[in-house]
Amino acid sequence: MERYAGRVALVTGASSGIGAAIVQALLRRGITVVGLARRVDRIKALEIKGAPGKLYAVGGDVRQEEDILKAFKWINENVGGVDILINNAGVLGYSDLTVAPSEEWKKILEINVMGLSICTREAVQGMLKRGVDDGFIVHISSVAGILPPSSSSISMYAASKHAVQVLTEGLRKDLLEKKSGIRVTAICPGLVKTEIMDNSKEIDKDKVFSQLPYLEPEHIANAVVYVLSQPPIVNVPQLVIQPVGQRRISDV
Ligand code: NDP
Repeated sequence: MERYAGRVALVTGASSGIGAAIVQALLRRGITVVGLARRVDRIKALEIKGAPGKLYAVGGDVRQEEDILKAFKWINENVGGVDILINNAGVLGYSDLTVAPSEEWKKILEINVMGLSICTREAVQGMLKRGVDDGFIVHISSVAGILPPSSSSISMYAASKHAVQVLTEGLRKDLLEKKSGIRVTAICPGLVKTEIMDNSKEIDKDKVFSQLPYLEPEHIANAVVYVLSQPPIVNVPQLVIQPVGQRRISDV
């Protein structure tokens, strides 16, 4: 992990839940963190007094390509470019295939798949241009990306996370062809207590979190630290983390 002290990590979806925990874990390890999300004040509030890393909060909506490009421009001009990209921004959305409005599906796919892909392209192009061979791309995917949907209410969400899994492997192959040492990891969490279900009318979050075992965001941040801490020859393509005794949301 020392190799990344003073280097720059971009964390998308930094204002809450897993993203916020990752920001703080990286700040504690001396990394310069740029947090990107729409709620900038919440990112600023993550600053830790006395932590060796420096935090910058950048406002932006990952559904808007120009917001992403602006964020990368700011990073390139002010802190020197992204060495580590944590593609974390994501929404659950209203997924049912027979009833949900197209606008909901569009939102899920634009944030979870398109936003992630645009950030990846910009980060990798910058790393290659700057000759960064130990860069890192982490996708916060989900167990919903490796298993069939546990209920109809997460169909499109699960489809978006399956896409993330395929994109992770596609990126790894792309980097292999470019003979780059940039590493790629998909972290697949099970249920984590965050705000992700706060706006869901289809899922009763109080019932879910009272009846199912869940992880805390810090457990996922620890997983990010673990993959970043491995020596350059070690790549962890996929890391699945579930709470002990995990069942499916549809069982609640
Ligand atoms: P939260 O709802 O707590 O956080 C989501 C984050 O994404 C927020 O910081 C939010 O910031 C950001 N975000 C949402 N929409 C946009 C947007 N249009 N532009 C920029 N940022 C956006 O959820 P989690 O922490 O749980 O989710 C983080 C990731 O973890 C997601 O990819 C999710 O799919 C994944 N995950 C979560 C699991 C869970 O059980 N919680 C399980 C498996 C995976 P803001 O609103 O300020 O823009």
